Amino acid sequence: MHASGSCLCGDVKYEVAGERPNLALCHCQECHKVTGSCFSTCLMVPENNFSIVHGSKPLKTFTVKQESGMNLKVHFCPNCGTTVYKTADAEQFKGTIVLQAGTLDKGLAVNMAKPNAEFWTKYRTSWLEEVKGPQQFAEFA
Ligand SMILES: [Zn+2]
Ligand SMILES: [Zn+2]
Repeated sequence: MHASGSCLCGDVKYEVAGERPNLALCHCQECHKVTGSCFSTCLMVPENNFSIVHGSKPLKTFTVKQESGMNLKVHFCPNCGTTVYKTADAEQFKGTIVLQAGTLDKGLAVNMAKPNAEFWTKYRTSWLEEVKGPQQFAEFA
């Protein structure tokens, strides 16, 4: 997979290389706030496969304690506020960029496989059905 993405204003641009990353939907309450919507669509990209290729300022970060107890750090454009990716200090997220897939450029629909997992389904919006196929997890596991 070779894909590019950007924030809403276009100042932050990034590239993703390597194997097609796993995709997960996350319905946790923190992702509701981060996205302003019902869930995050998360590409789990090894950090070595991710690079910021344009940006006049470094991304801003904000850290919050996620319900599981881990520290979740949100990385966003200081100009337009778009969350580009998240990182976390739990073991399963070491070395991984949790990329907000909606920031991918035109390849979004073409390049994305179906999700492998849905997390925090206990907070899934009541009218939203589970996706057929991916493993379902009430929390992170
Ligand atoms: Zn921006
Ligand atoms: Zn989440």
